[in-house]
Amino acid sequence: MLGTMQDVPLLVSRILRHGTTIHAKSQLITWTGEGPHTQTFARTGERTAQLAHALRDELGVRPGEVVGTLMWNNAEHVEAYFALPSMGSVLHTLNLRLPPEQLSWIINHAADRVILVNGTLLPLLAPLLPGLPLVEHVVVVGPGDTSLLEGTRPAVHEYEALIAGRPTTYDWPELDERTAAALCYTSGTSGDPKGAVYTHRSIYLHSMQISSAESMGLTAADISLPVVPMFHVNAWGIPHAALMTGTSLLLPDRFLQPAPLAEMIATIRPTHSAAVPTIWQGLLAELSANPRDISSLKAVTIGGSACPPALMRAFEEQHGVRVIHAWGMTETSPLGCMAHPPAGVAPEEEWSYRVTQGRFPAGVEARLAGPDGSFLPWDGASAGELEVRGPWIAGAYYGGAGNDPLRPEDRFSPDGWLRTGDVGVISPDGYLTLTDRAKDVIKSGGEWISSVALENHLMAHPQIAEAAVVAVPDEKWGERPLAAVVPKGEGSDVTFQELHAFLGERIARWQLPERWTTITAVPKTSVGKFDKKVLRAQYANGELK
Ligand code: ADP
Repeated sequence: MLGTMQDVPLLVSRILRHGTTIHAKSQLITWTGEGPHTQTFARTGERTAQLAHALRDELGVRPGEVVGTLMWNNAEHVEAYFALPSMGSVLHTLNLRLPPEQLSWIINHAADRVILVNGTLLPLLAPLLPGLPLVEHVVVVGPGDTSLLEGTRPAVHEYEALIAGRPTTYDWPELDERTAAALCYTSGTSGDPKGAVYTHRSIYLHSMQISSAESMGLTAADISLPVVPMFHVNAWGIPHAALMTGTSLLLPDRFLQPAPLAEMIATIRPTHSAAVPTIWQGLLAELSANPRDISSLKAVTIGGSACPPALMRAFEEQHGVRVIHAWGMTETSPLGCMAHPPAGVAPEEEWSYRVTQGRFPAGVEARLAGPDGSFLPWDGASAGELEVRGPWIAGAYYGGAGNDPLRPEDRFSPDGWLRTGDVGVISPDGYLTLTDRAKDVIKSGGEWISSVALENHLMAHPQIAEAAVVAVPDEKWGERPLAAVVPKGEGSDVTFQELHAFLGERIARWQLPERWTTITAVPKTSVGKFDKKVLRAQYANGELK
């Protein structure tokens, strides 16, 4: 028997309509460098309609067509976020920190014909254009040196001129909720970028989940500061959740350095923020040097790579800001889990939960696959590869297996679960603790050493700013850990012997690194994660002493 309820498609245009009417007065506050620029959700709705008219009528953008955005976090990017899916086209956010050849590869692979680009990013896009034969239109958003585009093939448009005078409403089509809404490529930490194609349905359901108190708990009383770029897994879904809940957004545009971030927090007083750990490390150091009041932040979501517990504690103890650790991937929209402690545990006991990657919300099912393919118990000890499934989890990559360095059957199980490539354990009460990415784990004499555990201990040392541990070949053991450390400040005189002893008090002897090196900074990927590929290559080339 089928139920009797209405079957209303879950569409991005519904989120837009809701946000721009019910939460008409909520705001997009873009940091411009010359003070904040504020725009209500109501006005955003009008401009989004104008953009859709311009794209359709002026540039001939069709339903199903993929349109690229090479933009920072700002109000115009939010307009593109809603205009493109709502009109039935596909938003393709371009990661502006990718190496140029990867960026070109992605634009060509997705067949972007139209690109919206912030004027400040023209120096990045212009040199790529000769290698982008499919691009016909470049829409420049905000000030920039358009002379850089002279002599290139695409037609050039100015965003405000393009949308000006067009109707401020749009008859959004009633789409199948499984229609593609947004395309996002992985940042390539683990090989060539692969595209996940989010549907209207997946975005709708993911937005509901991240808004819930179980996740980010966003409400119309909040101002959220997504430092995480809108090209990094849709800023973790925050722009969509904002329109769904009426949460105002503080959008940092290109001002992502610690000093302007501290200033915008102190000035606008957001209640929530989200970013990868490296951003927060930088902010912490900035606040020690130039104290500012960031106490408006009730919660900060940190994910994208393992958040060192020392960083979480520092925010809480020094600034009264609660950090919530989260795990996710491009393929999981990205919310996989968030580390809220269970109800009723004592404050000190809470930490043992909060340092985990988190607990799975409704909508994300998880299992651990052992090396022999059998599924492991959730006993907090059996380590295996995490596999997940759910309505906002990818079931395939854009373009099929063609751009996947691995065969698709290696990424998706025969029964359709996503193989995450992350290795960890799950406790009986459903908390995930990742010990490593499959390719970062150190295989020493048949035992696995967690690089993340070593890094977390090292980064808790008062004289260490950053630490990365990678596997290096070892004749006797196969692999052994190499610890690359960044001492805090010029005057640090910490020795490797001291660090070795410090670790010795915390982990088993056989896991202690015997190879150590000092570096000035841990290399980072395009989204600010530790790039261990680079460290491994530097070691292999003899560049690390
Ligand atoms: P890329 O795969 O290119 O780095 P993603 O942003 O999709 O791009 O990265 C997802 C991966 O990031 C996860 O598979 C996991 O390895 C890592 N990750 C994300 N969040 C965490 C976390 N809280 N702790 C540890 N690793 C994390």
